[in-house]
Amino acid sequence: DTLINQIAAGEVVERPASVVKELVENALDAGARRIDIDLEDGGIRLIRIRDDGGGIDASELPLAVQRHATSKIASIDDLESVATLGFRGEALPSVASVSRFRLTSRRSGSEHGALLQVDGGKVGEVTPHAHPPGTTVEVRDLFYNVPARRKFLRAERTELSHIEEWLRTLALARPDVELRVAHNGKPSRRWKGEAQLQEGTMLSDVRLHEALGEDFTRNALRVDHDGAGMRLHGWIAQPAYNRASSDQQYLYVNGRSVRDRNVSHAIRQAYADVLFHGRHPAYVLFLELDPRGVDVNVHPAKHEVRFRESRLVHDFVYRTLHQALAETRA
Ligand code: ADP
Ligand code: MG
Repeated sequence: DTLINQIAAGEVVERPASVVKELVENALDAGARRIDIDLEDGGIRLIRIRDDGGGIDASELPLAVQRHATSKIASIDDLESVATLGFRGEALPSVASVSRFRLTSRRSGSEHGALLQVDGGKVGEVTPHAHPPGTTVEVRDLFYNVPARRKFLRAERTELSHIEEWLRTLALARPDVELRVAHNGKPSRRWKGEAQLQEGTMLSDVRLHEALGEDFTRNALRVDHDGAGMRLHGWIAQPAYNRASSDQQYLYVNGRSVRDRNVSHAIRQAYADVLFHGRHPAYVLFLELDPRGVDVNVHPAKHEVRFRESRLVHDFVYRTLHQALAETRA
């Protein structure tokens, strides 16, 4: 079983950033409002994610680290309309098979917390452990028992920057959640939550500014359009801010950050037709559609989706942006 989990880990866990992604997504699925992320050595030595979400009952801790045990869908039909970020039940067992892993949790409403330790896939006993309502997952010494993978890890700075880039991607999509990051014991980044918000400001605007800076914000065109059963909203940069490279392109489908050639083609094409050829638009765009129209179970890491009607999606995105951009030129 450990071996199978380690093999699965090859698909889900590439580097510290993928661990952070899976654990933070679990925290979001559990309804967390605040997530604390502690890292050491770019996450190679330690990743500790603590949330104030719903928690896990002591009796269910062993299930959480068991392969294909997910509490998020009950049958394959539920996959058609999955609303959570996770659904495969692979992340925790995979991560726990290639690290020294501790899962501590207390269900809200429960009097006591509990701890389950897993060492390189060897699952220990559940023991009582003090913890506020919510969950802490601690991952030490990633790939310590898989030298062939460990040697692919890069320098601390590189791994840290992958984590930071992923957190930026997340922070743009979830301005409602406060995120605090510390590296080697020092606070390194804080994405403010509602509690720190000044009156009259929108959290999404604050996040945009913090994530992409003054220049982008000043030149960003706000888009929000419904049609054909879909909604596209967010920001696309105007001509003054076009890029020489394709960085700063954030696309989300039903709240999930994805790479999709079909949609990015539509965006690029609209931009090129109205404005420039050969330049790259910067954007933060959210596409919402009926979950039944999109398959999120294309790859274990869930970076990709497949649209049932990709032509329709392409045309909707293209027309929405073409019109929005054309209006600014008129
Ligand atoms: P998935 O997210 O696909 O269900 P995971 O392996 O990531 O699978 O997590 C397994 C299960 O452990 C989840 O279905 C959930 O019930 C529980 N779990 C994991 N992390 C948390 C968390 N931070 N808070 C509450 N429950 C969690
Ligand atoms: Mg998960």
